[in-house]
Amino acid sequence: MNTCVVGGGIIGALTAHALARKGFEVRVLDAERPGAATPASAGILFSIFDQTGEGAWASLARYGHAAYPELCSGIESETGFERRGLLIVGMESGRAAEWASAQGLGCETLSPSECRRRFPQLAVPERDVALLPEVAQIDPCRFIGTFRSRLRDEGVRWEVAQASRVLQDGNQVQGVSSGDQEWQAERVVIAAGAWSAELQEDAGLEPPVRPRRGQIVAWRSVEAGNLPIVLEGHRYLVARENGEVLAGATDEDVGFDAGVTGQAREELTGFARRWCPDLLAVEPDVQRAGLRPAGDASGPRIGAHDRIRGLFFNTGHYRYGIVCAPGAASQLVQSCLL
Ligand SMILES: Cc1cc2nc3c(=O)[nH]c(=O)nc-3n(C[C@H](O)[C@H](O)[C@H](O)COP(=O)(O)OP(=O)(O)OC[C@H]3O[C@@H](n4cnc5c(N)ncnc54)[C@H](O)[C@@H]3O)c2cc1C
Repeated sequence: MNTCVVGGGIIGALTAHALARKGFEVRVLDAERPGAATPASAGILFSIFDQTGEGAWASLARYGHAAYPELCSGIESETGFERRGLLIVGMESGRAAEWASAQGLGCETLSPSECRRRFPQLAVPERDVALLPEVAQIDPCRFIGTFRSRLRDEGVRWEVAQASRVLQDGNQVQGVSSGDQEWQAERVVIAAGAWSAELQEDAGLEPPVRPRRGQIVAWRSVEAGNLPIVLEGHRYLVARENGEVLAGATDEDVGFDAGVTGQAREELTGFARRWCPDLLAVEPDVQRAGLRPAGDASGPRIGAHDRIRGLFFNTGHYRYGIVCAPGAASQLVQSCLL
């Protein structure tokens, strides 16, 4: 059962893993394009901007929340898996508690003085805040590096190549080509992130996936102690045990431009310093951008093409691709087995 996965970000990598575990022979083609979303991502394992608690995003996020501890078991420090919790400072604490409960997570309400006592590195909030202690995170860049070795051990072949066409005979997939080179496959899974629509002409991906740029800034070697993820509106802070603290993220409609801007640096740095004035007083060391694959509001595109046999999609995970990846991979495998 020869399957070719186009794209080696978090979605392609976890899809390859799930397929290999079901006995599929898997090859991943990854073009290593600048601006890929996964290496730029914060790695928060909670759908922090989706407050509905229902629908496709929420159920995939719940799946991911449950799956990551096992995926990272024994390799926590290599993957940056940590359960620091999520402190929601930009929302009335009762509403945050309802949101947590819809996701099946516990929530504590902290008064400003209790918050100060627990997290002295943070500015004191003006009102009660909500802490979701079970929320975890990974470092997506380190996760994907570590996970590639696991894929090799599982027999997945990994090629650095940019797929240019899906090969078809009538309405049956035959494989993928990259320039003169061809890889025959009974199944092709398009998991090429924001670039998924490039193969659209062959695949007829509707609605098309489009890029949404996200920028972050980061500090290295910060003694952040037990700092949880801090969420205020559309801004957040994430500390890692390796000393990195990052502030994110913008959400911009600028096509495939994966450059960074002075305006984003200023805004994100200002946000970070408002919450950690002493810790983050120096200039950030890093600024980077990634192109999120945005589909439509109803959720990602996971499953079989309706006309072309052997063609599958796993794309359009927008702001939640890290937390949703294990569930999306599992769903994709189910449709391959039908
Ligand atoms: C700043 C930022 C912060 C984020 N924070 C979070 C978060 O905290 N939690 C969360 O859940 N999500 C977060 N996200 C969203 C998440 O990163 C994305 O949804 C997810 O990484 C998408 O993964 P992907 O594999 O689909 O795409 P990508 O990671 O972009 O991977 C696509 C891959 O396909 C390859 N490719 C493209 N075209 C071809 C081709 N023709 N042939 C071969 N290979 C090809 C590319 O080289 C790339 O490696 C964030 C995103 C950004 C930008």
